[in-house]
Amino acid sequence: MITIKKKKAGRALKDAVEELSGVDLSVCYQCKKCSSGCAVAKMATTRPSEIMRLLHLGAGDELLSKDLVWMCVSCETCSARCPMGIDVVAVIDALRRLALERGAPKPEGNVPLFNRAFLKTVETFGRSYEIGMIAAYKLGTGKLMNDTEKFPTMLAKGKIALLPPRGADRQTVKRIFRKSRQSRGANA
Ligand code: SF4
Ligand code: SF4
Repeated sequence: MITIKKKKAGRALKDAVEELSGVDLSVCYQCKKCSSGCAVAKMATTRPSEIMRLLHLGAGDELLSKDLVWMCVSCETCSARCPMGIDVVAVIDALRRLALERGAPKPEGNVPLFNRAFLKTVETFGRSYEIGMIAAYKLGTGKLMNDTEKFPTMLAKGKIALLPPRGADRQTVKRIFRKSRQSRGANA
């Protein structure tokens, strides 16, 4: 839980998020429809509507370490459900970007590791490649044998493919990643 102290309340994070996302946070009237459809809200400690409220109240950079910022799968259900047409997922994306730029502490657990594994496979193969991502994730956690009993069933049902995806424009995707790093001033 984040407690916003009066003297600490400010507009810095709110302004940065509004600028990056193009969202006017004051339009949210807390109906919570975004949270009721969120794919990961039950597993996260914060809900999208709470993020909206906390931002509006002037929460600081501690908000950048909330697990929802990293767990969000960009399904866009929150944006589709919002009766005010607020692009909630753009707000979450902006928070994730600011978290990286400002070096905010990552939440506990393996969510950031999962995120990195996913992005690395997209950068390498041009598209999502589940087995590559699972391998990178498991190497990172050191728990190589966890959940392996599900692997044959997923393979048999065609939920995951053995070979990397074909047809992706890998060079273009790599260029996008490179430009993104340059714009953030990152080295890796
Ligand atoms: S659905 Fe829209 S108006 Fe309702 S709480 Fe979420 S962001 Fe705010
Ligand atoms: S885009 Fe993210 S925050 Fe919005 S409903 Fe999906 S998982 Fe939840």
